[in-house]
Amino acid sequence: KEVCLNRIWQKPEEAKISVFDRGFMLGDSLYEVIPFYEGRVFALEEHLSRLKYCLKEISLDFDVEMLIPYIEDAVRRSDYASNDAAVYLQVSRGAAPRSHFFPEKSEPIFLLYSFPVNLRGFENKHWKLLISEDIRWHRCDIKTTSYLANTMLNDKSYKLGLDETLLVKEGIITEGSHSSAFFVQDEIIYTHPEGHQILSGITRKIVLDLCRNLGLELREEAFPFSEIAYADEVFLTGTTTQVMAISEIQFQDNILFQSSEPGPITRKIQEAFIQRTRNLQV
Ligand code: PMP
Repeated sequence: KEVCLNRIWQKPEEAKISVFDRGFMLGDSLYEVIPFYEGRVFALEEHLSRLKYCLKEISLDFDVEMLIPYIEDAVRRSDYASNDAAVYLQVSRGAAPRSHFFPEKSEPIFLLYSFPVNLRGFENKHWKLLISEDIRWHRCDIKTTSYLANTMLNDKSYKLGLDETLLVKEGIITEGSHSSAFFVQDEIIYTHPEGHQILSGITRKIVLDLCRNLGLELREEAFPFSEIAYADEVFLTGTTTQVMAISEIQFQDNILFQSSEPGPITRKIQEAFIQRTRNLQV
């Protein structure tokens, strides 16, 4: 499969970036994963507007709109156009002599490619989670490719045969290592408010909108770690995670939360999410 590096479609083994690329050297780059349902792009505007926000936050001048035809190209060129796929998109500040400040001159580069992803059947899955301390930096709202902390955290659950790591900061749950977290208690849905401590998940936003449409009670308030044992339902959201019901949450050697099947509120949201992504309604 070809990748698009700086407007040119080429074989991945032939695509080259400079060793002085700041994304490579310093993690001075951003990314997005944009889903395609049956070849139809979903929430493109939201993904591009998050990228725009992140570019502004890291003072990187880059025209996001010019990416649109390339994103569409990525799916058109793939074999999965009639099925589900996602586009990985990365923008780096580009090559410049290594410095700890942003260089005045550098030519940003972008990379994108599509990959097949199974966006069906998530409603039949159930994830098990591990709890760990949120060791990430203080700007988790910036979708940087510097995901070393996220990877270290996710690797802990992977090594234990679990599916994702839920992060605790100062006694509250922020989010997952690569997903947004939701808790249901007494028919009220809780999720961490937007800000520097979490990524503003696109799926999170869509789920919030679905909750409002469904008339479910929703609070953008952090859920305390100490309440996990008393949660009725837990689910995670993300572009590839979709709306994932949680069956178990482990902390050290204890099981804090257990649920044999997805709860009624998780179910409602999953159904509405399928409607929204497949039929573009609700
Ligand atoms: N939080 C983190 C830390 C993530 O990495 C992701 C996925 N990249 C999400 C939340 C979910 O975001 P989205 O719904 O935009 O995929």
